[in-house]
Amino acid sequence: MIKVYQYPHETLLQTSTPWTEDDRIDGYDDLERFERDMIKLMLDEKGMGLASNQIGITKRFFVIGHESFDTFQKHAIIWNPQVIKASEEKVIDVEGCLSFKDIFVKVERPKTVEVQYETTQGKTRFAKLDGMESKCFQHELDHLEGITFNKRVSKLRWQMANG
Ligand SMILES: [Zn+2]
Repeated sequence: MIKVYQYPHETLLQTSTPWTEDDRIDGYDDLERFERDMIKLMLDEKGMGLASNQIGITKRFFVIGHESFDTFQKHAIIWNPQVIKASEEKVIDVEGCLSFKDIFVKVERPKTVEVQYETTQGKTRFAKLDGMESKCFQHELDHLEGITFNKRVSKLRWQMANG
């Protein structure tokens, strides 16, 4: 059974390594079943994204999806995601994280990003993301680097969000 770990669980602080063809998830014979379980977990927790590090795995993948999104309208795991290009223009908007219950804080990030990733079927895809979808992708990608959103804001802002 997979579950969401809360900060400061050790894998939230670790850097994930690339997902390769030979990689397997413990307890799962096929990736489709794992994908369904991970999506279900994210939806049960009312998230728009859930990264491997949050469920105790340090391989580069995360679930993303919301009906309001343009590219990831359908929930899916994306594998080996990367940002190829980020806009100079930044936006500040409120973020939450399933590994930090009930904390919402304003985080500044590039407004748009051009990204590359692989599908569960092994196809490479490219997309340009904006709005919540861009923010969500960047938040999840940070998790794969061991960066949680408290590291993206000033100490003062973080203390205020926790007050
Ligand atoms: Zn998060």
